[in-house]
Amino acid sequence: MSTENTFSDELIELEPEIHECLAHGSTFLTFPKKLETFFTALDTPKRRKRYFLLGLSAIILFDLFCIADRFMLPDVYITAWKIRLGIVTPLMCLFLILIRIKSFYRYMDFFAGFLLLLTSASIVWFLMLSQHPNVVHYHTGIILIITFGNIVVRIRFRYAFGYSAAILLLYVIGIDHVSQMPVAAAQNSSLVLLTAAVISLIGNYQLEGEIRRDFLLTLLQRINTIKLEANNRKLEQLSISDELTGTANRRHFDKTFEREWSSAARNQYPLSLIFLDIDFFKSYNDNYGHQAGDQCLKKIGEALNRNIRRSHDLLARYGGEEFIILLPHTEMEEALNLSEKIRQSIEHINIKHEFSQIANHITVSLGVASAVPTPQTDSSYLVEQADAALYQAKNNGRNQVVRYSDPV
Ligand code: GH3
Ligand code: MG
Ligand code: MG
Repeated sequence: MSTENTFSDELIELEPEIHECLAHGSTFLTFPKKLETFFTALDTPKRRKRYFLLGLSAIILFDLFCIADRFMLPDVYITAWKIRLGIVTPLMCLFLILIRIKSFYRYMDFFAGFLLLLTSASIVWFLMLSQHPNVVHYHTGIILIITFGNIVVRIRFRYAFGYSAAILLLYVIGIDHVSQMPVAAAQNSSLVLLTAAVISLIGNYQLEGEIRRDFLLTLLQRINTIKLEANNRKLEQLSISDELTGTANRRHFDKTFEREWSSAARNQYPLSLIFLDIDFFKSYNDNYGHQAGDQCLKKIGEALNRNIRRSHDLLARYGGEEFIILLPHTEMEEALNLSEKIRQSIEHINIKHEFSQIANHITVSLGVASAVPTPQTDSSYLVEQADAALYQAKNNGRNQVVRYSDPV
């Protein structure tokens, strides 16, 4: 079974679970195990791309604040630059490199969360180092970081929650050690930061919920497409096959033969046809009943199928108890050999027929015709020849193979 088929089957098996999840929502933003694996597999490449592009912008924006450091924190700006450019930026670059490695994907959110925490921590660090009154303005930078991480990068909720809480804690503890920070300003900035974290976390939670819902709906759509395609294939199969024997039907044979005939005429290769008819089948039906007749036809169809090995050969039920075999790229001798093999194999399956006039089992007669078509000749010409050969086989006493030869 192909990988695509296995995937489709797995998906269809998940359908009840998908409906269940859609009906009940997912409060904790997780799916049952298998669905979660699917979700991760489908969502990770998209996120990886987003994280890369946003990581790149984050580096530029974060380092742009070197300008702010220069004028806002004139006493520590050199150290701030060293921290920005010497510690945080290289780690961000490392993230952009690691994100290209497949085995790193599972740590992607953890590392992204860590970087958001680190960038915030670096700001708290500047504040603790500085003696300048401008420190009261720097919490705005942390608000930007939290909003960026939770709403724009949209890292997974549990990581977003974790690093947001850690940043808050770090800020509240760190701010206590900032000498130029009045208590009221510290309280206010902590509160503003808390609010920013809560608001952006709510946004993050809602966004992830929607992404998960969209994912479930996409899966349902895919399942519907898979089912429709399978139905179409079944219908197509039904429209080209004979219901009783499972071989191709007359219509399909006519179409295929027409196509093959033109192709053989264009490319000048030989085509052979074998016409096969069950001997004394009317008396089989009359004596054993129509149902037994049907079973016999089925068995003959199966036996013929076992003898047709090449993929471009076509076996079809031509009508009643007649079968036809189209053999492209086949010369007369090869077709005769196959016909004789078929004749023997039908004898070999030994279907009892006490009312046959030539044996006590089912036998078949076969007519073979072969040609390299020319663009001027009609395809029916070869069918007529195979039919004439079959007629000859019947006249000669049945249970035999006869090749068509031009009348002298
Ligand atoms: P011959 O050796 O000359 O071919 O004699 P025959 O009796 O086989 O040929 P005939 O054309 O007289 O009879 C063909 C019979 O095949 C007639 C019909 O009862 C039977 N038949 C045709 N189609 C079906 C089918 O779908 N199911 C069954 N059970 N019998 C069928
Ligand atoms: Mg017949
Ligand atoms: Mg017959």
